Amino acid sequence: MPTDAHTNHLDALVTKLKSAAAPFRSTLNDLHARYKDVNDGKVADYIPELAKSDPKWFGISVVSVDGQVVEVGDFQQLFSIQSVSKPFVFGQALEDHGRAEVLAKVSVEPTGEAFNSIVLDETTNRPFNPLVNAGAIATADLIDGRDFSERISRLLAVFSRYIGRPVYVDNSIFMSERTTGHRNRAIGHLMLNFGMIRDRVEETLELYFQQCSLLVNCHDLAVMGATLANRGTNPITGERAIKAEYVKDVLSIMLSCGMYDYAGEWAYRVGLPAKSGVGGGIVAVVPGQFGIGIFSPPLDAKGNSVRGVQVCHELSERFGLHAFEAGYTGPSMKEQFRPHGDAHK
Ligand code: GLU
Repeated sequence: MPTDAHTNHLDALVTKLKSAAAPFRSTLNDLHARYKDVNDGKVADYIPELAKSDPKWFGISVVSVDGQVVEVGDFQQLFSIQSVSKPFVFGQALEDHGRAEVLAKVSVEPTGEAFNSIVLDETTNRPFNPLVNAGAIATADLIDGRDFSERISRLLAVFSRYIGRPVYVDNSIFMSERTTGHRNRAIGHLMLNFGMIRDRVEETLELYFQQCSLLVNCHDLAVMGATLANRGTNPITGERAIKAEYVKDVLSIMLSCGMYDYAGEWAYRVGLPAKSGVGGGIVAVVPGQFGIGIFSPPLDAKGNSVRGVQVCHELSERFGLHAFEAGYTGPSMKEQFRPHGDAHK
């Protein structure tokens, strides 16, 4: 039984933690209130499990590199990570094999083709980048291990380090991805034909389908983003998820290729490394400062979460977060994260 003193101490701690980032909390509440009624977009339905998502689900979470958290809405709602997983697996492939070997198997060029297109670079036979399905399957192939079980454990461990808790695969999503994944299978076999992946296509596809079916919430995405913002160390657990030297590889691919066929306009308008997935998640990174996680299932025609894109546009504009913003003097998100009364010291 906790004593009264204990309870009082805990209450005081909770109040302190809550007020620590209060100015930004009201900004986030305001954003959530204004965008929650946007009803555009359509929930992904290529597998029945995704079609079950409630279009009203909407959560936003922001985590700073010093481990403060501000979040609103459905930030605890779990969903499948889908393509948001891809840059993180690319990072692990770099750790396992180094730049030269990874870049021999996957290019870093944005593509105007659909994310699931069956097309490779004509001269090198490489997939265009690690964030389209072909490239993601090529990087999944590069996840090392003595056997399948060690490969999958290592892959899950990567995500556990980024998120700061054990991670789980949603079995029914995984089974659906696997049952309907003929296009990905075709891509895998095409790459095997060109010697871009090893002769264990089914196993690598299993790995890829499992990675897409990992359950996360938008708090987790924000922590993953904050880990990249923090040069590879999870700011909540202090654990390293990726070597600092590879963080820039991951972030630059996210900036140029992270938002499907909206990637160019995203880089131009929002200017933040980000990745979205068909589950409705988006992770965005403000290097050196914040990770942003957003979850809202309805997708626009390009496959990005409608509310997620709108919130990122507004955050970027309102706080001058664009990577190439020069001489910005407007309101600062970092200042708003400071405790009350401390904002202008
Ligand atoms: N599981 C999906 C596929 O491989 C990923 C979709 C996505 O989020 O882009 O087709």
